Amino acid sequence: MNADAVKMLQGRYCNSLTDYSRFVTREVAIGDVPMGGNNPIRIQSMTTTDTMDTIGTVEQTIRMVDAGCEYVRITAPSIKEASNLAEIKKQLRMRGYNVPLVADIHFTPNAAEVAARIVEKVRVNPGNYADKKKFDTIEYTDLEYQGELDRIFQKFTPLVNICKEYGTAMRIGTNHGSLSDRIMSRYGDTPQGMVESAMEFIRMCEALGYYSLVVSMKSSNPQVMVQAYRLLVQTMVAEGMNYPLHLGVTEAGDGEDGRIKSAVGIGTLLEDGLGDTVRVSLTEEPEAEAPVAIALVKRYSERKAQSEKHRAEKKGLSVFSFQPSAHSPYEYKKRETYEANAFIGGHMVPRVVLDLSQANLKDASVMNDAGYLYSPILDKYNMAEQSVDFVYLGDSLPSFNLPGNLKQLYNYATWQKLTNQTLCHPLFTLGEYISADANRTSALNLVRITNADLDSEAFGLIPLDNSLVFVLETDEPHGMADQRTFFLKLQEMELDVPVIVKRSYAFSDHGPSTMDHGQIDLTTYLQLYAATDLGALLVDGFGDGIWIDAPQVPANIITSTAFGILQATRSRISKTEYISCPSCGRTLFDLMVTTQMIRSRTSHLKGLKIGIMGCIVNGPGEMADADYGYVGSGTDKVTLYRGQEAVKKNINSANALDELIGIIKGDGNWIEPAE
Ligand code: SF4
Repeated sequence: MNADAVKMLQGRYCNSLTDYSRFVTREVAIGDVPMGGNNPIRIQSMTTTDTMDTIGTVEQTIRMVDAGCEYVRITAPSIKEASNLAEIKKQLRMRGYNVPLVADIHFTPNAAEVAARIVEKVRVNPGNYADKKKFDTIEYTDLEYQGELDRIFQKFTPLVNICKEYGTAMRIGTNHGSLSDRIMSRYGDTPQGMVESAMEFIRMCEALGYYSLVVSMKSSNPQVMVQAYRLLVQTMVAEGMNYPLHLGVTEAGDGEDGRIKSAVGIGTLLEDGLGDTVRVSLTEEPEAEAPVAIALVKRYSERKAQSEKHRAEKKGLSVFSFQPSAHSPYEYKKRETYEANAFIGGHMVPRVVLDLSQANLKDASVMNDAGYLYSPILDKYNMAEQSVDFVYLGDSLPSFNLPGNLKQLYNYATWQKLTNQTLCHPLFTLGEYISADANRTSALNLVRITNADLDSEAFGLIPLDNSLVFVLETDEPHGMADQRTFFLKLQEMELDVPVIVKRSYAFSDHGPSTMDHGQIDLTTYLQLYAATDLGALLVDGFGDGIWIDAPQVPANIITSTAFGILQATRSRISKTEYISCPSCGRTLFDLMVTTQMIRSRTSHLKGLKIGIMGCIVNGPGEMADADYGYVGSGTDKVTLYRGQEAVKKNINSANALDELIGIIKGDGNWIEPAE
């Protein structure tokens, strides 16, 4: 990195918080598919087959490449598997597949040294390459700490020299859950510890004159992951480095949860302009991951041009400059707001708004989509775990009684005409609100607003009192940054008005119309886009509520997406969280089947985090902050964990779920599922 670039970016982690600009990194050669620089953001994944199963691994690799993977990673737990990578590579090349291969290494430097002579890239985890993890807390003096680094340098040098000789690239892949005891003792279980863990190895590589590096900072908690990557870039910039970034959320799980969690972490960083390659980790077949990664990444191929065109069309839109003093992107701090109507803002969980203005408001069962399960026999509603807080009805009036605790939003003109305004609140335009005077309510007034409105004369005329809540909209192509700018400006103005963040998705003019790649449907697009756009604000503590507007997507999907985003950002917990690994050649049971089995009996345990890990080598570390763990420890053997402590070792897998439930019950954390 040249001195001018270092000076320009000093103290920052991206080019701009408010305008799309890709952070340009050093180009690294990985076989014939270079990464970083101005290359496209690359897609990759990892096989789940046994590495000794040559044909199975070759065929799965081919399916992954055909699905869009540009690199394929294969586990090499020992020298035997590392050596077999040569046969796998040969078979692939014979079939015309030149995809660069990456060897995944944990704990075994000797396997890495074999693999580095065969494949195009090796991944090492600095937490367990030459370091150790026994969950020991050791106080190191500076001298002892340096002594440990010297020891690691000796063990790491042969691999670096082989990589230099063979033109092999290397990923320094830090995982939140597998930081070494040494790092944990000095930095704790923190993003800073993750960054330092990687930086130590990067500095050793540079000392040896080796620069073909890629770096990752993965965690199953998207908030930790986002902070770690940002801190990594800031630290690298300060040291004049700009290595490409491999983005990923580990153990994201499957289905909707896995997609939303991945998008919150990966999407947030892509919005910042960071990321040179993406791996989405799902507990599904590996070929299911590439289409999700592609959908996340391709939003940015035209982003800069779209933003500039939009600005040119709307003359007068300005780019807000970066103000790091008003905002720390490296730690979570919820924006301070007042509590309006004892319901939204302040310390309340973020509220969810669902648009039912176009629904059939003659049938009470329409409320099922909002999480209020209507019983026609009893003529009453039961609240589900995920029941929305507001329904927006626009100008439509329901012909049935709504649930007694549900707030309704009406357009101002319609709200004025309601004979009974209990639980009914007006949604104003900015102009309506300013001229409404005595017609405003003392309870809750919601006002539609955009970032551009903050610079208007009208904004100065807004009557401010604790009944006011903004509904923040955007039509900017780089909408997250537009909305983030709004929050940064409010902070500057010291305005503590609660804000509901609204995003609208009209897919027909937003890229995908119905189906794309034959594998990604509108539901998935909505999950990925909304999780990116709203998640990126929530991980920074911005937003007192969310409103997803997507007329082409069924309302029940919108509700579960909204609650999924709040869960993934840990801002509102409404269900059990599963931290399940994507599986690999080390896996000791069928992850997908086991995850579904565990989910079927525990999905009502709201707030509990259950780790489901395929192997005992990496599993316990990788499941990081899970409350309980179900970890493969041998053929048909499972070890159960409470936090990081193994409480039942090597039990028969046939009884393992019952035993796990027994432990949860014994801890007083079990509740019986509702009928
Ligand atoms: S935890 Fe899962 S993905 Fe990680 S090494 Fe073990 S089996 Fe493979």
